[in-house]
Amino acid sequence: MEGQERLRAAHALVIGAGGLGSPASIYLAASGIGKLTLADSDKVDLTNLQRQILYRTDDVGAVKVEAAQAALKAINPDVAVVPLHQRVKDFSKLVKSADVVLDCSDNFATRHALNRACVAAKKPLVAGAAIRFDAQLMVFDLRQKTSPCYSCVFPEDAEVEEVQCSTMGVLAPLTGAIGAMQAMEAIKLIAEVGTSLSGRMQVFDALAAEWRTVRVAKDRACAVCSV
Ligand SMILES: [Zn+2]
Repeated sequence: MEGQERLRAAHALVIGAGGLGSPASIYLAASGIGKLTLADSDKVDLTNLQRQILYRTDDVGAVKVEAAQAALKAINPDVAVVPLHQRVKDFSKLVKSADVVLDCSDNFATRHALNRACVAAKKPLVAGAAIRFDAQLMVFDLRQKTSPCYSCVFPEDAEVEEVQCSTMGVLAPLTGAIGAMQAMEAIKLIAEVGTSLSGRMQVFDALAAEWRTVRVAKDRACAVCSV
């Protein structure tokens, strides 16, 4: 009951209304989050519907966050849904107003910009990623001084190969599982129950049906959180 009250008073910021953002938003809304801000610059595309479960065939061509707002309102009219139809570049203001931030984006530029804003504002960040048959789930409880940040694990200057679901494909239920778990960890952080995943990255191999736990520590030389 106390947790439910905390949830109703909370504001979740979800960046990306795609394969991860869809299930994450649905569960946050259905669970009774007070306010949900959802940012995405895209329109609904037929080829993404197998994983972007917020949308129906009738929504093809519509602005994603507007279709999402209607879908989430239908699930729970008590949730204040704020749609942002834009590719956000500066997250600082948005992050400051949120209690928990969910990274459901699909590119490193967004992930790093969002991480920087969460470090600066000391807000908990729940990051998910899924590609082909592999996925990761991470929580950075940046309210704690000892918490690592996204950049401790994936440094901004590291050479990374940007792979996106639009070109590489992804198993649709895999994004469903990870997005739902992002909502679960976000709800735990808000309701202040259980043990958060902070400091432990979960890596899931869908083909082998195997979860691995990778311990992640704060990098004392991290250019983002240790300066
Ligand atoms: Zn860091």
